[in-house]
Formats: sequence, C-alpha cells, structure tokens
Amino acid sequence: MKAAVVTKDQNVHIEDKQLRPLKHGEALVQMEYCGVCHTDLHVKNADFGDVTGRVLGHEGIGRVVELGEGVTNLRVGDRVSIAWLFESCGRCEYCLTGRETLCREVKNAGYTVDGAMAEQCIVRADYAVKVPEQLDPAAATSVTCAGVTTYKAVKVSGIQPGQWIGIFGIGGLGNLAVQYAKHVFNAKVVAFDISDEKLELALSVGADYAVNSLKENPADKAKELTNGAGLDATVVTAVAKKPFNQAIDVVKAGARVVAVGLPTDKMDLDIPRLVLDGIQVIGSLVGTREDLKEAFRFAAEGKVVPIVSKRPIEDINHIFEEMEEGKIQGRMVIDFTSSSQ
Ligand SMILES: [Zn+2]
Ligand SMILES: [Zn+2]
Repeated sequence: MKAAVVTKDQNVHIEDKQLRPLKHGEALVQMEYCGVCHTDLHVKNADFGDVTGRVLGHEGIGRVVELGEGVTNLRVGDRVSIAWLFESCGRCEYCLTGRETLCREVKNAGYTVDGAMAEQCIVRADYAVKVPEQLDPAAATSVTCAGVTTYKAVKVSGIQPGQWIGIFGIGGLGNLAVQYAKHVFNAKVVAFDISDEKLELALSVGADYAVNSLKENPADKAKELTNGAGLDATVVTAVAKKPFNQAIDVVKAGARVVAVGLPTDKMDLDIPRLVLDGIQVIGSLVGTREDLKEAFRFAAEGKVVPIVSKRPIEDINHIFEEMEEGKIQGRMVIDFTSSSQ
C-alpha cells in the first residue's frame, strides 16, 4: 500500500509499505482521507527530532477493515478517526482525571508511531473515535485535529451564551474557533487578525465583528464594542508573540485567555494586571477522545463546516511548500478514495 514516508533529507517519499500484523486490541483502517497539518510540516522537518522512515498523518478518516483479537468497541465497516492522540498509558494521574492529552507516555500518530497518510493504518481500537455517518469524511479530517483543538480551547475559556469572546489569528484553527464559539457556545465573537482576507473569512463563518490589529487598536476596539468593559475571554491561535499580548489587553477583569498557537517565544505578562484583575492564562492542547466525540457531533449537525480541498498523495511535497509560503486557505486533504483498491 502507498504511504507518505519521511526521508533523511526531510522530504516525503511515497513508498509501497507493508504493515505488520495486528496485535491484541488493534484495528486496521482503510483510509478515505487524511488532512495535512502544520504539525506534519514540523515532524517531517525534524523540528521534534529525527523520524526518518515514519509514515506521517494524524488527521485520518477511514473504515475499519480488520479487527485484532480482543476488540469489542468496533466493527468492520465502522468509520473512525486516527488522531494525534494515538494512545496514552491509561494509568497515570492525567489519564485517570480526564486529561489524557497531558499523559507523559502518550504516543502520537504520524510521529511516534506510523500515521494515517497512507492507504491503510493500524490504530488502537480504544482510541479510534467513531465518526458520525452524516458527517462528510473529508471535512471530518479537520475536526480530528483543528476542530477538536479549537472546540476544547473555547470550552476551556468558560465562555457563556451571549458573552464576548475574541479569537486571535484566523487561519486553519481560528476559523473553526469562530464557528464553535458562535454556533455551539452562542457567544458574541470578535475576530482579530492582520489580514483583511482572513477577517472576511471570519465574518463569512459567523464572527460578529472583525478587527484588523494593524489598522485599529485591539484594546480600544474591544472597549468600544462592550461599553468600556472588555471581552469575557480570548482564544489565541496566532503564531506570533504580539497577538498573545493583545489577547490580554482586550479582556476584562476575571477573564480567561486560552493559548493554543505555538510561537517559540515568551509572553509579556504584566504582573499587576494579572493579579489585580484576576486574569487567568491557560494553555490548551488538542482534546481528549470525549472532546473529539462532541466536536464530531456538532460538525455532523452542520454547526461547524471545515473548509477543505482534496489532493492526491503525490502532491504532498507541493502542499508542504504551499504551507511554508502561507498560501493555504482552510485545509488540504489527501484523497485515498480514488487511489485505493
Ligand atoms: Zn493536526
Ligand atoms: Zn497516562
């Protein structure tokens, strides 16, 4: 079967790969689609260490074609996801308290184990979350990663219906954060970015207001919109330092600021502002299996619609180039439905 394999020179090669036999508790999935994520770019560039020979991919959607011994939660024919959380230990304090993504022994698909950017993939059956049949499988790939990440972040922000939330950075993550915040949490949404094109996108998917932070002062604008109060929460999906600082400037006392984007930098936290105004700054990492189940359900109800374009697996290196040049709107998704069988 065809698989997108990381090479020593940090490229991706399409290889004919043979998978090992299934072990106890595993299932074999015939892939339909797999999204291409910024994380894949980091993995193949060896930013998290050398993974030569690894099959990429953690936004896979496909159907179960074979079950290993001891699998009781899946059947052949079920449509399931292969997410970044391939497996956690199931025993530690994090796994036992609903925080399995923080498990210190976590394995990640397309990084520590072979992933979903292949015609077939092996999953731990207990970690393969079922995908509702009403949900388009190509769109479902985005929910597996960007969707659940932003759904979880908005959840963690503690936003209530009718309250004001700011979303900083309207890329692949941000546009989904806007949709979850607006259509699932019924918040008033203000989108912040420095690109008018991205702000147009935010408005088209449900943002109530859009602020270009290069042309308007985000803090002044937030005050103006809320009669001087400030926003109730913010979620930062941007990959630069400045929006992280602005996300604190725009909120009111007692607000939460949830960090999701990953610039390799430090925030400037004003200590009196933090203490006297009781601001909470929280990091949020993808989501649990339970979060993913919920994120799928809202997408299946049509409340959240990921923007995807289908591409053949042979395009993979081009897609990474386009990604590095910042040319991609929404998500590129590898289509295995025409190449398989
Ligand atoms: Zn991803
Ligand atoms: Zn654990």
